Amino acid sequence: MKRRDFLKASLGGTAALLGSGAAEARGNLEPAEDAIGMLFDATLCIGCKACVSKCKEVNGMPPVAMGDETQYDAARDLSPQTLNVIKVYTEGEGLHKDQTVDGFAFEKRSCMHCVDPGCVSVCPVTALRRHPKTGIVTYDADACIGCRTCMVGCPYNVPQFDYRNPFGEIHKCQMCNQAGVERVDKGMITGCAEVCPTGATLFGSRKALLEEARQRMTLTAGELYNYPRGDVRSPDSHHEKAAPSYQQHIWGEREAGGTNVMHVSAIAFDKLGMPPLGERSYASISETVQHTLYSYLALPAVALAGLTFVVRRNTRDDEGGDS
Ligand code: SF4
Ligand code: SF4
Ligand code: SF4
Repeated sequence: MKRRDFLKASLGGTAALLGSGAAEARGNLEPAEDAIGMLFDATLCIGCKACVSKCKEVNGMPPVAMGDETQYDAARDLSPQTLNVIKVYTEGEGLHKDQTVDGFAFEKRSCMHCVDPGCVSVCPVTALRRHPKTGIVTYDADACIGCRTCMVGCPYNVPQFDYRNPFGEIHKCQMCNQAGVERVDKGMITGCAEVCPTGATLFGSRKALLEEARQRMTLTAGELYNYPRGDVRSPDSHHEKAAPSYQQHIWGEREAGGTNVMHVSAIAFDKLGMPPLGERSYASISETVQHTLYSYLALPAVALAGLTFVVRRNTRDDEGGDS
């Protein structure tokens, strides 16, 4: 076979295989049947960090020290010791809450409990799982092999690997529902939502939280609104407050396939450090590519064709021949 013909045949066959494999593209997963989540309203957050402390208490995690100061938690970002952190955005003089000119705002970082989680999709040993009914994404340390692929598969940089643990371990929020905690299974709400004094972190079903968020989008700035605390459907209490000028954007309604933890804000999310994401989930993109490449053993066929070509060429070159 001539080199040109060989290449043509290999590439033609590969293209046909990839073309037929592309029919297997999968879309985003739908939210779980009884999806549970949280709504974080940045305009209600006063930066008290009660949610950060409660999260540490629930998960038995130590405070992060700053210098010699060990009495107060000084966590600035997610880490193996911090599953939930409140970050501060400032602009100019940083004087006015929820304003872009000389303003400031608070933003929460924790696992978003994605509807179609990238971490679950890439984990080779299903150490990360999405609960089929609640959509909560949990982690099984016993199954984990410490490969850290989940850290790459997460669009929010959430999974944190504990390098100081000789057995390695990933840490992330499991919606207070991991083995030994199981607050949600016991009918309790998440620790962070329970202690939040303003309802900035609100617990509930994804559907109810989405309804609540959409309701807030209809408010005009200054309009009085009765904000619930705790559980969106059976709140511990309400408090009346003038609505801010909300961004018409519910983060997590659609981003990367949607999330069960959603955010609303008066400041654009890119300023609050949220990543630029399309509507397609990372999982659906990567699984489509994998399935396409592996369909009908396309990848081994490509590899074999390439290797065969290189061997043939080298053999001919050694023999001083040409084709
Ligand atoms: S935010 Fe990251 S760690 Fe959490 S479920 Fe989504 S992909 Fe997984
Ligand atoms: S749901 Fe539980 S683990 Fe997750 S951030 Fe809140 S308190 Fe922490
Ligand atoms: S407890 Fe509520 S108000 Fe306080 S920092 Fe957390 S989210 Fe903000």
